[in-house]
Amino acid sequence: MFVVMEKDAGETMIEVVMAALTRHGFDVHRSTGSDQTVLGVVGDIASADIREFEVLDGVQEVVRVSEPFKLSSRSFKRESTVIDVNGCRIGGKDVVVMAGPCAIENEKQLFETARSVARAGAKVLRGGAYKPRTSPYAFQGLGVEGLKLLRAAGREFGMATVSEVMDISQIETALEYVDIIQIGARNMQNFNLLSAVGQVRKPVLLKRGMAATIQEWLLAAEYVMSGGNYQVILCERGIRTFETYTRYTLDISAIPIIQKLSHLPIIADPSHATGRRDKVMPLARACVAAGADGLLIEVHVDPDMALCDGPQSLYPDQFAQLMDDLRLIVPAVQRGLP
Ligand code: PEP
Ligand code: MN
Repeated sequence: MFVVMEKDAGETMIEVVMAALTRHGFDVHRSTGSDQTVLGVVGDIASADIREFEVLDGVQEVVRVSEPFKLSSRSFKRESTVIDVNGCRIGGKDVVVMAGPCAIENEKQLFETARSVARAGAKVLRGGAYKPRTSPYAFQGLGVEGLKLLRAAGREFGMATVSEVMDISQIETALEYVDIIQIGARNMQNFNLLSAVGQVRKPVLLKRGMAATIQEWLLAAEYVMSGGNYQVILCERGIRTFETYTRYTLDISAIPIIQKLSHLPIIADPSHATGRRDKVMPLARACVAAGADGLLIEVHVDPDMALCDGPQSLYPDQFAQLMDDLRLIVPAVQRGLP
C-alpha cells in the first residue's frame, strides 16, 4: 500500500504518519520526490483499516496496490533512480558501459584488459572472482586474490568495479574490494542471498534469472530493497528459449517494460545473452537504442586463451569500435556517454 502525502505536507506531518504506520506493525519506506512524498508500506495490509491513515493530517490518499512489487515500482517513486558509484551516475542521462573479462585470471590479463577498456570509455571494470561454472571441473575463479587485483586495476585506470558473489559468506570480503556487488542469473532467486545484500549499503547489480519473468525479477529486487538497500541496478542478460543458435535469447523488450514498471536503472548484457562475439556488438547497439541505461560487456585482452567465456568476449579493438558506434547512437535517444 502507498500513502501519498499532500504536496505541502510538512516534515512533522510525514513523521506522524510514519510513526502511526510503524505502530501498526508495518515496514515503512519513504520516497521523497521533487514535489511529493510517498510512503511505501509493507506488511499485512489485507487486515488493515486504511481509514485510520486516510484521516491523518497531510495525507492525500491511501492506495492499495495490486502489483506485487512495491518499492521497485514507478507508482511508489515516479522519478528514475540514479545510482552514484564514485561519481559515475547509473540511471541518469549518460549511458554507462561496464566492461572487462568474465573471470579475473592473473595480473597481466586483468591490467591489460582494464587499460584497453578504460581508454575506450568504460567507466566500470567487471571481473569475476567467484565464478558460477556449470562444470565443477572448470576454473572457479581466484577468490579474494582476484578481488585484490580488481580493486588495484580499478584504481589504476580510474574505474569503479563490479564483481559477483555467489554466497552470503563472500559478501563481507567483496564489500572491501568492489563498488558494485553482482548477483548472477543463477542466484536471482536465492532469497537468503538477496536478503543479505539488502542489508549492505552498496549498489547491487541484479541479473535476470535465465527462466525468470519480469515480475519474478522485480520481486527479487524487492527482496533487496525491503532490507533497506534501494540501490539496485537491473541487468537483462538473456532468457532461455527454444532457440539454440545463441546461448540465450536477449529480451530487449524487457528494457522499455522495466522502465515503465520500475524506477530502477536497467542495463543489458549482450555477452552472456548471445554467447558469441560476433553477435555482441549489434545487440549492444540495439539495447542502447532501446533505452538501456548501460551495458555490461565481456572483453579480454586475449580471448582465445581465456579461462572462461572466451568465445563471447570482445577483442579490445572491437570494444573500442563499439564505443565509437555508441557515440553515434546516444544522441538519437537523447542520451550521452560520460
Ligand atoms: C557473469 O557476469 O560473469 C555471469 C556469470 O553472468 P550470468 O549470471 O548472467 O550468467
Ligand atoms: Mn562470463
